[in-house]
Amino acid sequence: MAKPPYRIDSGERVNLAKLDPRDDGGWEREAAEARAEELGRELEDLQELQYAAGDHGLLIVLQGRDTAGKDGTIRYLLQHMNAQGTRIQPFKVPTPKELSHDFLWRVHAVTPGRSETVIFNRSHYEDVLVVRVHNLVPESIWKERYEMINDFERLLVKSNTIIAKFMLHISKEEQEERLLEREQETEKAWKLSVGDWKEREYWDAYTEAYEAALERCSEVPWHVIPADKKWYRNLAITETLVEILRPYREGWMEKLGKVGERAKAELSDFRAQAPRRA
Ligand code: AMP
Ligand code: MG
Repeated sequence: MAKPPYRIDSGERVNLAKLDPRDDGGWEREAAEARAEELGRELEDLQELQYAAGDHGLLIVLQGRDTAGKDGTIRYLLQHMNAQGTRIQPFKVPTPKELSHDFLWRVHAVTPGRSETVIFNRSHYEDVLVVRVHNLVPESIWKERYEMINDFERLLVKSNTIIAKFMLHISKEEQEERLLEREQETEKAWKLSVGDWKEREYWDAYTEAYEAALERCSEVPWHVIPADKKWYRNLAITETLVEILRPYREGWMEKLGKVGERAKAELSDFRAQAPRRA
């Protein structure tokens, strides 16, 4: 794999140690920010078309360790997304009611309908990440989930959902810095959690769990985003999203053209019947 962001396709092996979280694809910060803004405008256009055409839902899955930048990514993306039709969906520790159903029950219910965009802040992948690392269910249960996830994503794709999956890849050193920052800055302290320091002790187990999820569930490709540099992360995600959506542009334009023609035809019929309204 040459250059980031790294696309993981079906059947590929993944060794996260070989993907550098500090990578910036050779960009300088200022140029990267300018390019991200440019692509952001294209993203805005594409999402507008997706919304108006009404044929596809867009599901953006964000995964990453604590402090990897999921919240920051969402803040950035929202600057370039149509608030109308976009929803943020966080996944927390499941409630007793959620636990009394299959693990995809709470997920399926909040997937995007046609026209909609939903950003998953964490996702069904927690059920093979935190759950696997801490044995929240026996191995015999979680190990069957990879295939269930593939089936689930296949169902969504066949039902006109465009899925974009991102793993925000940060280094252990960067995580430490970000956790310490949270202690020092009042505006960040609300995010402080002993849990994050505790989870850090399971760094290697998470690495293994991430690698397994990336390898076994890449029928819908994953995108590993080097995330130590936030400005590069923003560029890489925006660029990847635009590349995923671009191939649909023509079809959406065609659909909108037809809808427009139909509306014009109806309007001219209406005027023909009541000429004084013209
Ligand atoms: P945060 O993203 O900081 O709001 O934290 C949400 C917490 O919920 C994280 O510690 C996740 O690991 C946890 N979580 C999310 N989904 C699940 C799940 N399916 N099972 C167990 N814990 C989960
Ligand atoms: Mg947290």
